[in-house]
Amino acid sequence: MARNIGLDISAPETECSDMNCPFHGILPVRGQVITGKVVSDRMDGTVVVARDYLHEVKKYNRYEKRLSKFHAHNPPCIHAKVGDIVTIAECRPLSKTKNFVVVEVKKE
Ligand SMILES: [Zn+2]
Repeated sequence: MARNIGLDISAPETECSDMNCPFHGILPVRGQVITGKVVSDRMDGTVVVARDYLHEVKKYNRYEKRLSKFHAHNPPCIHAKVGDIVTIAECRPLSKTKNFVVVEVKKE
């Protein structure tokens, strides 16, 4: 049985035995929820998620595009790959740079 993680997201169909899975382990999620695109899946159990945002440059009255990257835990039941649009939720720090976990792969 998958846990209810407190977000309006249904649990993945496959199960896993990862302790750091919000659905099948004991990892609580809280805080920010972000949508972005997976730009790297080469690490074991971790993906890099990038998000574009616009930053206003007042002097020229225009916007410049900026990119922010997040490291997110990728539980085996979710298994996000490069190019996937994913939803990531903030959790406790899982490593030096990882404090988000992938909770959903968006289907087009
Ligand atoms: Zn799982």
